[in-house]
Amino acid sequence: MTDLKQYRQALGQLVALPSVSCASPRLDMSNRQVVDLLANWFADLGFKTQVEALPGQPNKANLIATLGSGEGGLVLAGHTDTVPFDEHSWDQDPFKLTEKHDRLYGLGATDMKGFFPVILAAVKDFRHKPLKAPLTIIATADEETSMAGARALAKQHHHQARAAIIGEPTGLKPIRMHKGIMMEAVHVRGHSGHSSDPALGNNALEAMNIVMADLLSFRHELQSKYQHAGFAVTVPTLNLGCIHGGDNPNRICGDCELQFDLRSLPGMDNQQLHAELDHRLAPLAQRLNVDITLRSLFDDVPAFEQAADSQLVLQCEALTGNAAVSAAFATEAPFLQQLGMETVVLGPGSIDQAHQPNEFIPLDQIAPAVTVLQQLIRHYCC
Ligand SMILES: [Zn+2]
Repeated sequence: MTDLKQYRQALGQLVALPSVSCASPRLDMSNRQVVDLLANWFADLGFKTQVEALPGQPNKANLIATLGSGEGGLVLAGHTDTVPFDEHSWDQDPFKLTEKHDRLYGLGATDMKGFFPVILAAVKDFRHKPLKAPLTIIATADEETSMAGARALAKQHHHQARAAIIGEPTGLKPIRMHKGIMMEAVHVRGHSGHSSDPALGNNALEAMNIVMADLLSFRHELQSKYQHAGFAVTVPTLNLGCIHGGDNPNRICGDCELQFDLRSLPGMDNQQLHAELDHRLAPLAQRLNVDITLRSLFDDVPAFEQAADSQLVLQCEALTGNAAVSAAFATEAPFLQQLGMETVVLGPGSIDQAHQPNEFIPLDQIAPAVTVLQQLIRHYCC
């Protein structure tokens, strides 16, 4: 039986510690308080804990807590940061866990501070029995912005379990794939001049018009070449998101920048896509006599796919009674997979409540989530 009183109490403490991560430094916060609290809890349960600051960011840290030792085993992972919030849109204090209609409301309740007390409840039964293979808890920083925490782990760590579960809110449906994300800016530099005589300059907006047409043909080529029936949108997408250029109707536009995102399918390589884009833009720049530069606005997230017939996917499907599906959102899964672990995203709560006012986790998903984790720990560690 899961002790919901202890669950509420632990989640209340986690929610009360703000850990917003945001690309805007004005709103960005440290996650150290959350990581330190989790480290204390897991140390009390007999775990060996390491708190590792992110490279160049002493106020952000990952936690790695391990029970047992040896080869193989299981990783249970989650992020400690939340997105920013609109205080005026909340019906209660976002940092005070509030129970109403069998739901617990609070910032990060479902995405995803609520997963850690599920782990605490699940591991209680195992702390007095020696494990055959280690159980590792990973709590990361900055998932909501740069995924810097997971990237640092993928670079530094060689510890490798057989399997990893990331407890993002999936309504306890196993997620075994998602698309990759690239966010790019293409900048065209022409030459400004008086609009009365086109020979006085070289119009960056007109060149951008040709660049945009080329991007749309690139999209068409990608969509003809790649499809995946496991996704709601079965093709890779490329969205022209915003454009800025010029200043006045009577000046030839000298500079123009377009920003777009590209969402790749499993099997597509982001670095290769970037190189292909560069390769297409270079001859356009030459023909139009402008400078064209392509730069990434953020580090890309690779597409993720865990094979449908891999042991972890089959195990999660059997334990939850739900078929593994794809997600429309990106996660840290590709980085954990890079460490050589079979990886599935599976946790309580719904992504529909994430990133919005009055975020909540439904109480009726807690006990089933604890049971699934206990069965996975038994399978991989006992
Ligand atoms: Zn999340």
